[in-house]
Amino acid sequence: MPQRAIALFSGGLDSVLAVFWMQHLGFEVIPVFFAAAYIFPDKALKVAEENGLKLEVRDISEKHLEMLRHPKRGYGKNLNPCIDCHSLMIQEAALMLPELGADFIITGEVLGQRPMSQNLDSLKAVDKMSGAGDLVIRPLSQKLLPDTKPIREGWVNKDQMLDISGRGRSRQLQLAEQFGISHLQPAGGCLLTDHNYSLRLRDLMRHNQDSLQNVKLLRWGRHFRLTDEIKLIVGRDAADNAGIESENYPGLYLKIRDVEGPLGLLTVQEPSEEVLKLAASIVLFYSHKASSPAYIKYGVDKKFNQEIKVEKCPENILRSYLITS
Ligand code: SF4
Repeated sequence: MPQRAIALFSGGLDSVLAVFWMQHLGFEVIPVFFAAAYIFPDKALKVAEENGLKLEVRDISEKHLEMLRHPKRGYGKNLNPCIDCHSLMIQEAALMLPELGADFIITGEVLGQRPMSQNLDSLKAVDKMSGAGDLVIRPLSQKLLPDTKPIREGWVNKDQMLDISGRGRSRQLQLAEQFGISHLQPAGGCLLTDHNYSLRLRDLMRHNQDSLQNVKLLRWGRHFRLTDEIKLIVGRDAADNAGIESENYPGLYLKIRDVEGPLGLLTVQEPSEEVLKLAASIVLFYSHKASSPAYIKYGVDKKFNQEIKVEKCPENILRSYLITS
């Protein structure tokens, strides 16, 4: 009798509960987190560790980005294509079944919890689109849902499934206490629900620049569109500067010569004199310590072997290039 399942694990309480519920019924459950350039596993890893679960993380950035360009069921409030995203994750989990020796998939979805993405129609859409819906069990709501293969075949006893629905959290909290689950407050690991991030991503899409390499940069710094082809990214703090550097983007890097300050990255290596001056003046604007005019060092491969003297960019001009609402 099949006893092993893959769990889609977000790190949210419901996903932890789904795992614990199936474990307490005797199933072996392998929690999996699907990461992408804007979906990060940090929170899920922490929650898994705190609850003694070994989390498998798989990066599906390319496939996710491909789906994100044309989601069949559209976007949510921002650029979050939640229905298509769930469907892709189920599809990916289904592909992993043979590799992990598992027979079906569980998710922590609760019927009616999210009006748009977890009503019955959406769940059915997810299942249909994924092509693997017949292998999915949603332990927290399965009593209220159509039977799938694991129920029909008797691998899972429907009577042992739960009938939680709606937006209330009391039953989940009760169960969490019963299982001794420690959980974080709901907090997104997905930047697609973030308004400003979505604006930056939309800008890339509008300019046909939504390659994975460009998308990866979006999580760091302030973003300026200088021309249809060229963007400037400026770190807001040391973490941003380190993040920008870590992406190894093949552009032109800029920093202030004589004082500590932000790292700038132009997305081309040979900008015109005019664009270079503008970029340097924006980088200089973000240093309180630097005087104006001042020297900005720049170069490719982070070599900073050239320099240019500029004034700080006036704020109103800088704002006209900033990608924001
Ligand atoms: S919030 Fe992000 S990760 Fe979660 S389903 Fe929506 S698009 Fe996917």
